[in-house]
Amino acid sequence: KARRHRHSHERYEEGQDEQHLRQLMLIRDLQEAVDNGELWMAYQPKVDTTTGRVCQFEALMRWRHPTLGFVPPDEFIGLAERSGNIGLLSDWMLAHVCEQLHHWKRQGHHLSVAINLSASDVIDPGLPMHITELFESYDLTPDQLALEVTESAVMQDVEAATETLMALSQMGLKIAIDDYGTGYSSLAQIKRLPVDELKIDKSFVLKIDTQQEDLTIVRSTIEMGHHLGLKIVAEGVENSASAEILSQLRCDYLQGYWISKPMPADAITGWLDEFKP
Ligand code: C2E
Ligand code: CA
Ligand code: CA
Ligand code: CA
Repeated sequence: KARRHRHSHERYEEGQDEQHLRQLMLIRDLQEAVDNGELWMAYQPKVDTTTGRVCQFEALMRWRHPTLGFVPPDEFIGLAERSGNIGLLSDWMLAHVCEQLHHWKRQGHHLSVAINLSASDVIDPGLPMHITELFESYDLTPDQLALEVTESAVMQDVEAATETLMALSQMGLKIAIDDYGTGYSSLAQIKRLPVDELKIDKSFVLKIDTQQEDLTIVRSTIEMGHHLGLKIVAEGVENSASAEILSQLRCDYLQGYWISKPMPADAITGWLDEFKP
């Protein structure tokens, strides 16, 4: 009925309606996605610039919806966070990654995986114990799991986040600040957190081989980070020129399509066998 009263904005509003409907569907279907095996994790390597070796993989969530097809994580993770459903995904992801690490270990590969945490994960006082229990069930050691958390997630509740991260850090897990440079916190603030690594956001890295400003920002971030005792990771390394520049700047770890796109778990050991430093 309301439709009849729409005139010039009709098309626009219908686009909005469709968008809204899609969001409602995605939120509604999150639980089924977990239950029906529609989710999986893709793994993207990070390379140590001093050894040329793969030091870790980042686990990135994937969802193929039965009718909507592939849904990008930037879309469904945000929706899950805002609708209060992210715990569902985080729990599935944690258990799934630990099981995968266990599986690789049985095949003779002692691998390390970094997972992405949401704001609600990082303020969850139960997380350290939950992870301890997973380590026990899957026979894992703390060096096998690392955490990536954005500064904005931490800043939502610095006190609670610091407490959780302290406990996880004391357990031996390494913690990285993800998307570094896109938020508003200073390195001084970040240094008060139990942080081991800065992951420079790909927006500064993608064009480092041609954009002087990006190069300047990345160079000074690496220098300041190192002075504070932090390791530096660059994400979004897409070509050899960028990799070369970042190595010369003494960036510790590189990640990006130039090394590999995220891969399904069953491709990892074969890829590692082929990978030559
Ligand atoms: P992120 O943690 O910053 O992950 C990096 C994103 O950059 C990934 O996108 C990755 O596929 C992409 N990427 C990697 N190398 C390159 C490159 O060389 N060039 C370009 N252009 N892009 C590159 P993806 O997989 O679509 O993930 C998007 C975001 O979704 C992630 O950003 C992260 O914030 C979130 N996310 C993914 N999986 C999870 C998860 O399990 N839990 C949570 N809480 N968030 C997740
Ligand atoms: Ca990340
Ligand atoms: Ca990132
Ligand atoms: Ca991001």
